[in-house]
Amino acid sequence: MGCLFCNVLEKKIPATVVYEDEHTLAFRDIRPVAPTHVLVVPRKHIAAVHDLTEDDVTTIGHVILAARKVAHMEGLEEGGYRLVINDGDAAGQTVHHIHVHVLGGRNMTWPPG
Ligand code: 5GP
Ligand code: ZN
Repeated sequence: MGCLFCNVLEKKIPATVVYEDEHTLAFRDIRPVAPTHVLVVPRKHIAAVHDLTEDDVTTIGHVILAARKVAHMEGLEEGGYRLVINDGDAAGQTVHHIHVHVLGGRNMTWPPG
């Protein structure tokens, strides 16, 4: 089967895409935990934050900028929103292709669970 989000990138698994560019794809989370819950992934397979190298600086920068564009498109900028990257088991990372969660449309609590 390979990587789930590589399969989404290759259109082998359907997803509701909200934004895409040369470096990134953004699609709605299948189990949303907020009114807006979008995942932004790099087209390059990088498993996790702890696998990032200097070579990935531009790529991960594009992911953050894409997340901001999604937040803008979803109308979240005025009220605020949260970006989340889970890294590893303790954080609850379940898909091992790095992704930024764009969460918004409700008030967030702190600290996170
Ligand atoms: P993580 O727990 O790794 O930070 O986040 C993985 C996210 O991927 C979860 O929020 C989960 O709901 C979402 N997810 C898992 N499988 C699929 C899928 O097949 N399609 C989409 N759109 N989201 C998925
Ligand atoms: Zn992948």
